[in-house]
Amino acid sequence: MTEELFREDATLLECEARVVAVDEAGIVLDRTVFYPVGGGQAGDAGEIVAAGGAKLAIADTRKHPDKPGEIAHVPAAGADLSPFAPGTRVTARIDAGRRRAHMRFHTATHLLCALVPHAVNGCSITAGYARLDFHMNEPLDKEALSAGIARFVAAAHPVRHRWISEDELDANPGLVRSMSVQPPRGLGRVRVVDVEGVDLQPCGGTHVANTADIGAVVVTKIEKKSAMTRRVVLGFAA
Ligand SMILES: [Zn+2]
Repeated sequence: MTEELFREDATLLECEARVVAVDEAGIVLDRTVFYPVGGGQAGDAGEIVAAGGAKLAIADTRKHPDKPGEIAHVPAAGADLSPFAPGTRVTARIDAGRRRAHMRFHTATHLLCALVPHAVNGCSITAGYARLDFHMNEPLDKEALSAGIARFVAAAHPVRHRWISEDELDANPGLVRSMSVQPPRGLGRVRVVDVEGVDLQPCGGTHVANTADIGAVVVTKIEKKSAMTRRVVLGFAA
């Protein structure tokens, strides 16, 4: 199992680690700060630097397709993997700008969930934009949603995550009702993200620590994808 340091502290930009395996999926480390694509959020890019100084550019990060619980760091095409044999001590360092954009957009999607009280049936978060698909047929107002996001950003709500047990969930029906997404069952515990006073939902992604850190994010487009799907696209304000 790869130790997922980003789950407890999304602000970590690098960590010391050891190469566990190298295969077609990529490089597996014993621990990492690289977030693997999932929950709509894009994977991290960055670099892995061997103790001897050799550098390897990482283009993407994925959950290992064949090894549950392990994370594959996908090397850039044509990279020389020979300095990164299993056992090698390395520093794993993410592309901070790309991750920061993911965190700002991702947290902004939680604000959208609070502004649009409908089920979400699609989500994509990249460094350039984010989109969220809502199951609904009413029209949405671009300016009103942008203003709503700006209001939550200005109010500087703390963003925290915590783990709760399924027993705790079951013992607190109000908690489940306040969540905009039903938590996955069968894993024993659920990671919930609490945008204090705004949104509470199960989420495994990376977030900024306060809505103020989202900065200038606006709704750039609203599309009618189908009779029952409205797509909201977010971008950074110019
Ligand atoms: Zn989230």
